[in-house]
Amino acid sequence: MFWNIDVKEQEQDLMAVSHFLLSVFKFAADQPENVFLKEDWLAFAPENGAWFYRLYERDTENGKNMHRAVDRLFRMEHGQRERIWEAIKHDMEFMDKEAWENGRFSLESDQLSDAAQKILKDFFGYFYDVVFCTAHFHLKELSSPMYSRRELAKDYFKGKNKKIRRICPVCLNMISNGETDEEVEHYFPKSRYPCLCLHPYNLYFCCSACSSRLKGRKSPLKGKQRNIGSIFLPYLDTVKDQVQLEFENPGNKDSEVVSLLPVLEADPDTGEKIKEFDRLFSLEERWSGQLEEYYMSFYSRYQEKIKERSGKMSLEQLEEWMKEDIKRNEAMQSVRPGRYLEGEYMKWVMEKQLKAFYAELKSGCQCVAGDAGRDRN
Ligand SMILES: [Zn+2]
Repeated sequence: MFWNIDVKEQEQDLMAVSHFLLSVFKFAADQPENVFLKEDWLAFAPENGAWFYRLYERDTENGKNMHRAVDRLFRMEHGQRERIWEAIKHDMEFMDKEAWENGRFSLESDQLSDAAQKILKDFFGYFYDVVFCTAHFHLKELSSPMYSRRELAKDYFKGKNKKIRRICPVCLNMISNGETDEEVEHYFPKSRYPCLCLHPYNLYFCCSACSSRLKGRKSPLKGKQRNIGSIFLPYLDTVKDQVQLEFENPGNKDSEVVSLLPVLEADPDTGEKIKEFDRLFSLEERWSGQLEEYYMSFYSRYQEKIKERSGKMSLEQLEEWMKEDIKRNEAMQSVRPGRYLEGEYMKWVMEKQLKAFYAELKSGCQCVAGDAGRDRN
């Protein structure tokens, strides 16, 4: 993600859940029969088989799809069942760089037949929407006897992710959807990659703008692209470490704009990755829209200071103040990542716009965007 997020606290449980669901497909691939036989299943999965079978048998309104998906799976030819299992197993290893070939790893489950994809959607969809979000998993290897979305949220914010408790790791804005109510987002959308809907490396919490409003069902892989080596991945990449912000003051606009560019030492494909990341989350546009507010906030802060000094201020003095503020901002970023953009912007004003900013403060003009006083070129 843009800010560093940590998978450690939730990795084991979600991996156990994903691997258990995968095991149903392994069982199907190994079975010679075309029906899901209880005895054989319980012998195959002695620990958790009974719990799963109860859900399968229940065949309630919201569980119907799963029951039918399992039946449809077993009715498929043996070879097809094997292909499905292999594709899911392959995709679930996407975070394991040892499984990559020269920086490339192509997801395969979305290349399966339509019938197979429908099975995956119904099967995994049930386990995500119903079991995980409204009930719970009951598997022997889980750290909690009843594991659900609630346990995930608790674990997720327990460790290193504590500092992004109320900050969105993508856009760094405050989470406004309530402290315990952040949205669980799937980087690879569950509509297209249902088998990754409970995969620890595909789930993270973010603000509603970054989940439903902007990204929605957009896939990070555009068109025919399937190689995930060509995009940023939530836990494997920290975008912030690979970008630098470039601010500009285009004459035809009221205020500055910010662009995300690769850092100098970045890999050659980083520029493309940034573009794809921005296609999902529109950071450049949203962050550009925030600059005016930052500007006004430090403009009035320094006006206050000047007033305290009865209107006396030199260029050197202003630079001094800004340096102090930037330093303070940087120190705060480790606990308040939301200050990052403001800090970078302040640096740019100090390094590239200092004289103009000084002149503007001096003139004591209270005018805002669009007025002559705002033109600092
Ligand atoms: Zn966000």
